[in-house]
Amino acid sequence: MSQNSDSFRDSIATVSKEGKRIWVYPKKPSGRFYNWRKIVAYTLLAFLFIAPHIKFRGEPLLLFNFIERKFIIFGNIFWPQDFFIFAIAMITAIIFIVVFTIIYGRIFCGWVCPQTIFMEMVFRKIEYWIEGDWTKQKKLNKQPWNREKIFKKTLKHVIFFAIAFIVANTFLAYIVGADELWKIQLDNPMNHLKGLVGITFFSLLFYGVFAFLREQVCTTICPYGRLQGVLLDEQSIVVAYDFLRGEGEKGRAPFRKNQDRKLTGYGDCIDCKQCVHVCPTGIDIRNGTQLECINCTACIDACDSMMDKVGFDRGLIRYDSIKGIKTGKSFRFTSRDAFYSTVLVLLLGALGFLLVSRSDFDVTITRSSGTTQRAMDDDKTANFYDIAIVNKTRENYDVDIKLDDKYKGEIKVVGGDIKLPKESLVHGKFVLILDKAHIKPGKNTVYVYIYGNGKRISREKVIFLGPLL
Ligand code: SF4
Ligand code: SF4
Repeated sequence: MSQNSDSFRDSIATVSKEGKRIWVYPKKPSGRFYNWRKIVAYTLLAFLFIAPHIKFRGEPLLLFNFIERKFIIFGNIFWPQDFFIFAIAMITAIIFIVVFTIIYGRIFCGWVCPQTIFMEMVFRKIEYWIEGDWTKQKKLNKQPWNREKIFKKTLKHVIFFAIAFIVANTFLAYIVGADELWKIQLDNPMNHLKGLVGITFFSLLFYGVFAFLREQVCTTICPYGRLQGVLLDEQSIVVAYDFLRGEGEKGRAPFRKNQDRKLTGYGDCIDCKQCVHVCPTGIDIRNGTQLECINCTACIDACDSMMDKVGFDRGLIRYDSIKGIKTGKSFRFTSRDAFYSTVLVLLLGALGFLLVSRSDFDVTITRSSGTTQRAMDDDKTANFYDIAIVNKTRENYDVDIKLDDKYKGEIKVVGGDIKLPKESLVHGKFVLILDKAHIKPGKNTVYVYIYGNGKRISREKVIFLGPLL
């Protein structure tokens, strides 16, 4: 099929004309890209499973407790008050994904996406180990339910569920913390019904996804996959088939020894279909860039190995842009890429600045509701305030509120000193008393300082109401 024939886009490779699912049996991949992907995948998997158990300054390295709205990233505690940082991080992430995809296509899907990593590097490998390569799997599925089939299928699904259970527990450890997870598992189940329901639900979900749903997640469910149609253009780097070289003038033809392909007019594609056999989403990359392609590089490895066998140059399928293939020019960093990358760097810089300059305390001072200024006996006026202080650190503090030296007056904290325990939010009240002679009628701007254990932690502006004439 030529590059310009788009009839393959009228159907999904994994759905038959009758609308039934066509099960994909990808051939076991091998090759240099696959080896690199294994290194990346196992490194990321190791991090995923180990990170929730690592403690940093007494806290988990990573924690995303949506229930209690407590987030810890590399030992730094983030509170709901830091939500704006999360909002900016989310916007940065979305722009990053868009810009990165425009330039580098779906590299994320093939190399980093947890769905691909678990499917191809964990579950699929177990399947190959138990049921054999693709032809053996097909044969096993067709044969009647004899002892061999029952044993292999049972073993596979038991292992699949066990891994799904471990994955579900790991995800829960990121939400409630590893310590809490141990409690859920070791304590009386009746005390942790919610946690157990969560573990069971996610175990079944992951098992269902990796045992049955598989590539359908990428081809029909994942929103990122659906976005490719609007994000990719001719300059984006994708796993691409060099149709000019592969098809030649006359198209593809099986390999014949001692045949000069150039003289015959045939392209370098020997139509061995190895690229199709290894594809985990069941597509033929020779049809051109498709939404179903997760850029897993299995077809690059398969084609390179065939090219080696027949003595042709590698790279008939390779990372390239469609423009690069059409013009024969390799990828260049264009002004468009430079612009997008600059936007990206600026956003990351802004996010980094916000993270670094984030304060350890949040102080909010408001006038106590229902109060106004009160005249005192000795030519002084009092205003009443509520104060809320968030301590994001791991230290306890004794809080003191002091008036800026340039004002004549005093601050009285209601109920004595404010105790501010670590990682907590406390509320307090104080009275600000100023000499009438030093304030004007109506609104006055006054600065107060908040001290924690004798160290200034914040400077706050408050509005002080002076007596009206
Ligand atoms: S076409 Fe190639 S890169 Fe794309 S999903 Fe299939 S094997 Fe992977
Ligand atoms: S593996 Fe390479 S040579 Fe074989 S069919 Fe695919 S593109 Fe053609």
